[in-house]
Amino acid sequence: MQRVHDAHGVRGGRGIHGIHDDLGNGKAQPVSREYGHLPVLLQKEYRRLKDKNHYYLVNGRVLTPYRQIAPGGVEIKDGYIARVFPMDGVELHDGDGVLDVRGAIIAPGLIDLHLHGGGGADVMDGTAEAFASIARVHAQSGTTAIVPTTLTSSLQDLSAVLAAFSRVKKEITTGARLLGLHLEGPYFSPARRGAQDGRYIRNPDPGEYRELLDKYPEIIRVSAAPELPGGLELGRELRRRKILAAIGHSDATAEEVVQAIEAGYSHVTHLYLGMSGVKKINGYRCAGVIEAGLLYDDLTVELIADGKHLPPPLLKLVYKCKGPGRIALCSDALRPAAMPEGEYYLGAEGRGQKIRVKEGVAWLGDNLAGGVVTGSRLVRNMVELAGVPLKEALQMMTATPARILRLDHFLGSLDPGKAADLVVLAGDLSALATIVGGRLLD
Ligand SMILES: [Zn+2]
Repeated sequence: MQRVHDAHGVRGGRGIHGIHDDLGNGKAQPVSREYGHLPVLLQKEYRRLKDKNHYYLVNGRVLTPYRQIAPGGVEIKDGYIARVFPMDGVELHDGDGVLDVRGAIIAPGLIDLHLHGGGGADVMDGTAEAFASIARVHAQSGTTAIVPTTLTSSLQDLSAVLAAFSRVKKEITTGARLLGLHLEGPYFSPARRGAQDGRYIRNPDPGEYRELLDKYPEIIRVSAAPELPGGLELGRELRRRKILAAIGHSDATAEEVVQAIEAGYSHVTHLYLGMSGVKKINGYRCAGVIEAGLLYDDLTVELIADGKHLPPPLLKLVYKCKGPGRIALCSDALRPAAMPEGEYYLGAEGRGQKIRVKEGVAWLGDNLAGGVVTGSRLVRNMVELAGVPLKEALQMMTATPARILRLDHFLGSLDPGKAADLVVLAGDLSALATIVGGRLLD
């Protein structure tokens, strides 16, 4: 028998500048970061545990995220969470695998429900290597489940990517889980296309989308402009199939958004970006998708929390209006995520539009095209830039996106019986270790 003592302190590690109160009192054993992804002090134990299917994370600040247990631990068995416990009085047996996280945060793995790429790969490349690289690079920053997102493209290109995903998804066995695909387009308003390729934007075509939805059950989310001819019919079709219908790249009025909600749209794609706000019609002011997204509780929203797409006052405003239960943080990450600054393709390599990464964001000409910031950095931004308590910022990238995707029976919180998808975070919220389905990732 071996007792695991609270030998290393459990109070959250280094605080982030300005939010010490939220992260603990800063007296903790600091978790150093100089070694890259995995700290030296965890490496030995980590290697030892890599092939175990029953082990314990101990001496952590567990955020479920609804509850804090500190010092606490998590028992992982056969890919699932077996138990979440306070360290007080816990007895572990010789031979039990133990990863002592030394006061670091133990949280559910992050869920990113909108991203296009990373690590030099784009979903539109449509290859096994591209999907594998995206899954791997996002996992490095604590994301354990992703919804790869396509771009507006020709039917031929889109079909090729869908077919490729359907073919290769089972081969991708490491990195973040691939939950299913998000079609971002092509049924968008030309007036709000943003970085989506205008050549391929079109009105919803029931013949086209029914065939795709029939053929590819991997599609779990579609973003579209509901005000287009056929937009409401599309919403009803998605609702019938239990696919998340999201309002995106839309020029709708708030009245049209109400009709969209009635037709089955329940989510707003990257709020504030590629959508209508207050505008004048025949001299009268009229609310748009932004105001409707903030106003109606029936709509959840997502925020690109890279600190570039939206300034702090807007992050704060959305948080104030919607609360942590109706906001999902997403990266909208492109090919250059986790890559050096420079020029890249948005969409298929060699054929997409040219983008340039500078100042921590991707530019298409003078406009922002998408993100390069991933995982726990998005959570950190909500804490640092929007003043959101850590527990709630985590909720926005764990429990809330799981519920939006109707996967909360399986993912999104540290509850016994759910998948053992976890992240261990340092006090500055950098990811120290990522666990998917009970497997510690390299
Ligand atoms: Zn996107």
